[in-house]
Amino acid sequence: MTSLPAGNVSLALLHYPVYNKHREIVTTAVTNLDLHDIARSARTYGVSRYYVVTPVVEQRALAERITAHWQEGWGATYNPKRQDALQLVKVIPALDDVLHDLQQRHDRRIRVVATGALQRPGALSYQELAKLCRQGEEHYLLVFGTGWGLSDELFARIDHVLEPIEAGTGYNHLSVRSAAAIILDRLFGR
Ligand code: SAM
Repeated sequence: MTSLPAGNVSLALLHYPVYNKHREIVTTAVTNLDLHDIARSARTYGVSRYYVVTPVVEQRALAERITAHWQEGWGATYNPKRQDALQLVKVIPALDDVLHDLQQRHDRRIRVVATGALQRPGALSYQELAKLCRQGEEHYLLVFGTGWGLSDELFARIDHVLEPIEAGTGYNHLSVRSAAAIILDRLFGR
């Protein structure tokens, strides 16, 4: 078990299968902001790895080019802090590949936890998930969506759902970058 706050946790940002505005299942485009901002949050809280998941070859090539620029290229010397964060990024085709990679890296059972803005029955509270992560018996993969959110087909194949972030205003549709940062802080912030 690692001593980093979120050492038993990895993140996955899924660009498929997610909904579009018409609730059709689509593949969304990778964004530069999601790569950088979530990597920085992941690095801040000591997350093990940040997977950027897309089945589109050209999108993977683009994401890899951006991360390589800051990991190895001119960007690495220009901004070492960004380099440090982007070292956590792994670009990968599908959730099954993420699970395979995690199983190679961690000799523990992998538990998949989906996030979303909707209340779902049986959702774990932040306290419950934080406690499970601290126990260190299993590795937790927090899954985030893009577009209009993760599809029901994805929710059907995961281990847990995390309760949504709410502030009592009736509006809780956060950008994925904000949601990832708030969730990491609720779970691991001091
Ligand atoms: N295009 C959007 C953007 O700019 O980020 C993507 C929206 S995507 C639906 C937002 C993702 O962030 C969700 O799939 C979920 O993973 C997370 N998210 C957003 N609001 C949330 C909330 N209130 N509670 C928990 N997770 C949330």
